[in-house]
Amino acid sequence: MGFFEHCLINEEFWRVDPGIGLSILAATFGSEMIQLFGTEEQKKALLPPLVKGEAITGAAITEPDAGSDVTSVITRAIPVGGEYIINGTKTFTTNGTTAHFIQVLCLTNPEAESRHQRHSVIIMETDREGFEATPLKNKLGIRASETAELIFSDVRVPRENLVGKEGNGFHQFMVFFDHTRPHICAQAVGLAQGAMEKAVKHVMERRQFGKPLASFQATRFKIAEMATRIEAARNLYHKAAWLLDQGKTDSKLTSMAKWYSGEIAVRVADEVLQLHGGYGYMGDYDVERFYRDAKIVEIYEGTKEIEKLIIARSILGRGSSAS
Ligand SMILES: Cc1cc2nc3c(=O)[nH]c(=O)nc-3n(C[C@H](O)[C@H](O)[C@H](O)COP(=O)(O)OP(=O)(O)OC[C@H]3O[C@@H](n4cnc5c(N)ncnc54)[C@H](O)[C@@H]3O)c2cc1C
Repeated sequence: MGFFEHCLINEEFWRVDPGIGLSILAATFGSEMIQLFGTEEQKKALLPPLVKGEAITGAAITEPDAGSDVTSVITRAIPVGGEYIINGTKTFTTNGTTAHFIQVLCLTNPEAESRHQRHSVIIMETDREGFEATPLKNKLGIRASETAELIFSDVRVPRENLVGKEGNGFHQFMVFFDHTRPHICAQAVGLAQGAMEKAVKHVMERRQFGKPLASFQATRFKIAEMATRIEAARNLYHKAAWLLDQGKTDSKLTSMAKWYSGEIAVRVADEVLQLHGGYGYMGDYDVERFYRDAKIVEIYEGTKEIEKLIIARSILGRGSSAS
C-alpha cells in the first residue's frame, strides 16, 4: 500500500471515530523509519508481523525537556562491545505500553560539532530488561489511543538494532516526518468531514423561529465555508501524499498541508459544536468528542508553529529565530 492509500483509509476512519482510527492506523507508526532506512534483515524480520496485525510498534522522540527541539534529546545510548546501553526517559509515546518494538531516538555522538549529527535511531524490543512503560492519563481527546511515558534503565540492545547510520538520527527523523505528516493531514480532514456531516444533519432537522436552521443564511454560509476549507485541505495533502508515492518529497508542501488541515479540523469542530448549540456542548450528538479530538492534529508530529517555521524557512532561508 502506498502513502496516499494509507491516507485515504486514515481519512475514512477519522471521519467516523478519530480515537479508534488512531489506535488502528497508528499501530504501524514508526515502521516508516525501517522502510526508509532499515537493512534488508530488519525489514524482513520486523515489517511482515506489522502488516499482518500481529505486532504493534511506535516511535519515541519526545522527552520531558525535548519536544519541538528534537536536537535536545538526551536519552543516551552508549556503545559497549556489541551492544548499546540505553538510559533516559521518553514521554507522550503513542503505543508505548502495547508496542512490541519501538524506534528510539538516542544521543550517541554528543561530541559531534553539529547538533544535527549527535543522534541515532535504535530499535528497542519492549521485552528487554530495564524498560518500563507507564500509561499517561487524562488526555483531552483521542482517548481510545494509549500514550505512555517510557523509562530506560541500562537497557541493552545489540548494535545491529541501529537503523540507518550512527549520528544520522535527526536527519532520518526529518525525512520520516515528511512521510508520516500526510497521515496526520488525513486524520484532520477526516475528522472535519465527519464533524461537518453531523452539522449538516442537525441543521436540516433542528427548527427555530419556525424554520430549519438550514434555512438561515448565516447557517448556510457556515456550511459553505466549512466544505470549501475541507476540500482545500484535502487537495493540499492529497498532492503531498501522491508525490511521496512518486518518490518525491516536498517538505514545504507537506508542512503547508499539516498546518492548514490541523487548523481546519479545529475550526470546523468548533463551528459544528456551535451549530448544535447547547446540545453540542453535551455528549448527546457526539460532537463534543470531535471537538476534543481535533486539537491533537495541531500538536503532534510537529506543532502548527513548527510547520510554519518550515514553510517560512523554505521561502526566506534560515532567519535568526530558532528553526
Ligand atoms: C497524544 C499525544 C501523542 C503523541 N505521540 C507521540 C509519539 O508517538 N512519539 C513522540 O515522540 N512524541 C509524541 N507526542 C509528542 C508531540 O510530538 C509533542 O508534544 C510536540 O512535538 C510538541 O512538543 P512539546 O509538547 O514538548 O511542546 P514544546 O516544544 O514545548 O512547544 C510548546 C509550544 O511552543 C511552541 N514552540 C516551540 N518552539 C518554537 C519555536 N522555535 N518557534 C515558535 N514556537 C515554538 C510550540 O509550537 C508549542 O506551541 C505526542 C503528544 C501527544 C499529546
